[in-house]
Amino acid sequence: MAVERTLSIIKPDATRRNLTGAINARFEGSGLRIVAQRRMWLTDTQAGKFYEVHKERPFYKDLVKFMTSGPVVVQVLEGENAVLKNREVMGATNPANAAEGTIRKDFAESIEANSVHGSDSAENAANEIAFFFSGCEIVG
Ligand code: ADP
Ligand code: MG
Repeated sequence: MAVERTLSIIKPDATRRNLTGAINARFEGSGLRIVAQRRMWLTDTQAGKFYEVHKERPFYKDLVKFMTSGPVVVQVLEGENAVLKNREVMGATNPANAAEGTIRKDFAESIEANSVHGSDSAENAANEIAFFFSGCEIVG
């Protein structure tokens, strides 16, 4: 199996409820290593660009508004099959469909305020990591 990196974001609903540590414990407990991390408040431009792939979707405007409603924690997670592993630890987009024991099942407030973002492919992970981090900020 290959060691991969994936981009994770702890979303504003989770930072607001002081869940950064609890969510990080889920990542570390699953074997994912946090090799870069920064707390920041996204601008409209940054959030809009990050979610550009969704710009034709009906929820895009609300999503950008939500993602700029408070601080986020952007992170790079590293481990065996990190992209898929993180998606498993996160759970389904809609918490109503998320499996028991996943972050979204346990913490998400709604399909929008669902506590975490995770890259959905190795190619997107590379682009999303480069969007937020330079090479020397990632310490494996
Ligand atoms: P995921 O985050 O699981 O990869 P998507 O990439 O499909 O899900 O969507 C990006 C984000 O947009 C979701 O995490 C969620 O915050 C929001 N979102 C997705 N679908 C909806 C929806 N039907 N209504 C409101 N917000 C949504
Ligand atoms: Mg997605």
